[in-house]
Amino acid sequence: MVEKIEYSMRAKRSLGQNFLVDGNYVSKIVNAVHPEKDEVVIEIGPGRGALTRELLERGAKVLAIELDRELVPKLRDDHGLTGRFIVVEADASEADLRELIDQFYPGTPKAKLVANLPYYISTAILQHLSAERHCLSKLVLMFQREVVERITAKPGSSERGYLTVLVEAAFAVERLFDVPPEAFRPRPKIWSSVVRLIPKAQSSADGDAFRRFLSSGFSQKRKTIANNLKRSYPEAAVALADACIDPKRRAETLELSEWLRLYDAIAVHPKP
Ligand code: SAM
Repeated sequence: MVEKIEYSMRAKRSLGQNFLVDGNYVSKIVNAVHPEKDEVVIEIGPGRGALTRELLERGAKVLAIELDRELVPKLRDDHGLTGRFIVVEADASEADLRELIDQFYPGTPKAKLVANLPYYISTAILQHLSAERHCLSKLVLMFQREVVERITAKPGSSERGYLTVLVEAAFAVERLFDVPPEAFRPRPKIWSSVVRLIPKAQSSADGDAFRRFLSSGFSQKRKTIANNLKRSYPEAAVALADACIDPKRRAETLELSEWLRLYDAIAVHPKP
């Protein structure tokens, strides 16, 4: 049965507001989150609360982060009385998740996270969530389909780039299902896709230095990895040889393990 959820308030295009109105997809997303009773789930951008409502019905404790201050009072009115709902007005791409969990649900080692995210914030939020992942056990994220194609692109695919490797270094990624434009109001032009991310343990790839290295490696898609890296890393040629990577390869052909090997090889070489 397809349940349509109707709303009257106007959506803000500048905040990427396309609200989920198809109950079947709401359930599919919440099934993927699979909240246990009293488990803490962080929801980024609850909007008009389609996912929030179902999370609460299934017994989760919800910690929502919403940037649109006009939506916050209604969310509090609708769900505040459950005693299992907190909404903070903040930009999720800057929020300190550990601090928020400790403030509102102290004693919670890890939370799950769910979000239906606008396109304009996808890179910033994925970078931020990679850095904040140690307080999370699972993330279920919906993006515009092309973003999911980018973050799940295999070595050799032209879609593979900085964001793909950054996400692979931080999470085990699984694409779950696609969502058609008809599932939203207002209706977007494009399809969306849902992915599940399971955080990986801390590694040498955490931190800004690895991001700068990756961004340098992918700086010009047509050039070889050696050419891209040599300006910022004069030791790149030696490091490529140490890591047994052909300097003529293009960045998009490298697997995550090769990026990590190359990064470690660069780190052990003193700058010439
Ligand atoms: N989760 C709701 C749903 O599925 O119907 C709303 C999804 S809508 C695509 C995106 C939501 O994220 C909106 O409510 C928007 O106001 C909010 N949002 C946009 N940028 C944000 C940010 N930087 N931090 C927190 N929320 C944000």
